[in-house]
Amino acid sequence: MSRFDVAIVGAGPAGLFAAYELVEHGLKNIALIDAGRDVRKRYCPLLKAHISRELGISCAGCRPCHMLHGVGGAGLFSSGAINLHPLVGGDLAVLLKSYSRAEDVIKYFDSILVKFGAGEDSLRIPNPELVKEWERKAAKAGAKLISPPQRRLGTEGSIKLTENLVNYLLSEGVKLLTNTYVEDLARSGSGFKLVTSSGSIEASRVLLAPGRAGAAWFSEISKKLGIHTVPGPLDVGVRLEVPDYVMEPLVSVIDDPKIIMYTKTYDDKVRTFCVNPRGFVVAERYNGYVAVNGMSYRDIKSRNTNLALLVTVQLTDPLEDTVEYGRQIAMTATKLGGGKPLIQRLGDLVSGRRSTWSRIDRSSVEPTLKDVTPGDIGMALPYRVVKDVVEAIDRLDDVLPGLASPQNLVYAPEIKFYSVRAVVDDSMQTNIEGIFVAGDGVGLSRGINGAAVTGILAARGILKTL
Ligand SMILES: Cc1cc2nc3c(=O)[nH]c(=O)nc-3n(C[C@H](O)[C@H](O)[C@H](O)COP(=O)(O)OP(=O)(O)OC[C@H]3O[C@@H](n4cnc5c(N)ncnc54)[C@H](O)[C@@H]3O)c2cc1C
Repeated sequence: MSRFDVAIVGAGPAGLFAAYELVEHGLKNIALIDAGRDVRKRYCPLLKAHISRELGISCAGCRPCHMLHGVGGAGLFSSGAINLHPLVGGDLAVLLKSYSRAEDVIKYFDSILVKFGAGEDSLRIPNPELVKEWERKAAKAGAKLISPPQRRLGTEGSIKLTENLVNYLLSEGVKLLTNTYVEDLARSGSGFKLVTSSGSIEASRVLLAPGRAGAAWFSEISKKLGIHTVPGPLDVGVRLEVPDYVMEPLVSVIDDPKIIMYTKTYDDKVRTFCVNPRGFVVAERYNGYVAVNGMSYRDIKSRNTNLALLVTVQLTDPLEDTVEYGRQIAMTATKLGGGKPLIQRLGDLVSGRRSTWSRIDRSSVEPTLKDVTPGDIGMALPYRVVKDVVEAIDRLDDVLPGLASPQNLVYAPEIKFYSVRAVVDDSMQTNIEGIFVAGDGVGLSRGINGAAVTGILAARGILKTL
C-alpha cells in the first residue's frame, strides 16, 4: 500500500493551492486525489470547437459531471472571476479572527495567480469615484454595494492557469491520482487509511477538500469519524437573465458587483451573486437534481447578462438540516421541470402564470440555456423565497432600470449548499487531530478565492504538525 505524508481529497482550488503551499515548504510526498479527470480530459459543454481545439479541451455536448468533478474542480470552466477581498467568497476574516491577516493571505494567493499566468490585464480595480456613485444609488434602494478588486481570467485563462499550476506540482513530485474516488476514510496507526476506487493508500495527514459536489460525502464521513460540524445557511433563489445593456452601466464600472439587501416583508437577506456580463446560463447536475449557474468567456459572448439572486435561509429546531431542506427544494423543482431546470418570463412569475415555449419565444430576451422546461417557478420554490426575489428585483430596478422588465428570464433552482460547516481552528484542523479541511464542500468558503485561501491555511496548519 502506498504511504504519503499528506493525502488531499479533491483537486479543486482548495486542494491545488494546498498542494502548492506544501511543495513550497519542501514537502513532496503528497497524494492529490480527484474523482474526476485531468484538466485536458474534461469536457466543457459550452466551449466552441475552435477554442476547444486550440486549448486541447474536448467539446462533446453536455457532459455535466465534468463541470463539477476533475482537476481544477468546479471552478475550471467558470468565468474565472476571482475576488480579492476578505469579505467575499467566505468568512475569511472571521475564520482568522483578523481582517489584516485575511488581507495578507489574499495578497499571497494573488501572487500565486500571477506566478502561474494571471496577466496584468486580468486585474480589475474599480474606479473609487464611480463606485461611490453606484453605492449612493444602491443605498437609495436600501441596498449595500460591495465592489471587490477582481482578477478576470475568463474560462480559457482559468484552464491555462490551472494547467500551469498542476504541471508545476507534478514537476515537484506530487502524485496526482485522477479518476479516483475516495470511498472511505479511517484511522490507521498514527495516521489514516483512505479506501479509494483504485485501491487503498495511507497518509499521516489528510486534507478534505471535496467541494460542493462532495458536501454530502463529507457530511457522511464527518458523522462516521466524529468530526464536529454545525448546520450552515442555505442560499436558494433564481438566476435572472437580462439584455446586456441593462447591466452594462454598472458592470462597466464594477465587473462583479455584489449587492446585498434585507427584504421588507420578511427581513430576509437577498444578495446578487456571480454576475456574468454577456455570459451564459448553465445547468449543473447533482445526484438527484439539477440546478443552474452562470459563466462567461473571454472570447465567446452572448447578448445577455445573467446574475443570481439568492435568499439566505437558516433553519432552527426541529429541522436544522439545511442540506436536506435544500435538496427537497431542488428535487421538487427538478421534478416539475421533468429533469431540467425551469425557465419562466419574469412577468409570468410575477402574475402567477406558467410560461410556455410560445411565451418564452415572444420574449425579447433569448435564453442562453435551451435545455430547460418552461414552467412556474412559483410552484417550485417556497413562497417566501419567490416573494423575496421578486421584491429584490423590483427594488433593484431603481438602481438598474430594466432589471424588472416582464420580458426578462428567470431560471431555477439556483441553490448553494454551505450547510454542513466543519468546526475548525485557525489552521483549518478539525477536532480530529491530523484531519484538516478546506473549501466549499466543508462549508468554509463560497468561491475560488475562499477555497484556495482555506487550502493554503490548511497546508500551513499541516506543516506545523509534521
Ligand atoms: C459553473 C460554475 C461557475 C463558477 N464561477 C465562479 C467564479 O467565476 N468565481 C468564483 O470565485 N467561483 C465560481 N464558482 C464556484 C467555484 O468554482 C467554487 O467555489 C470552487 O471551485 C470551490 O473549490 P473547492 O476546491 O472547494 O471545490 P471544487 O472546486 O468543487 O473541487 C472539489 C473536487 O473534489 C473532488 N471530490 C469530491 N469528492 C471526492 C471524493 N470522495 N473522492 C475524490 N475526489 C472527490 C471533485 O471531483 C472536485 O473536483 C463557479 C462554480 C460553477 C459550478
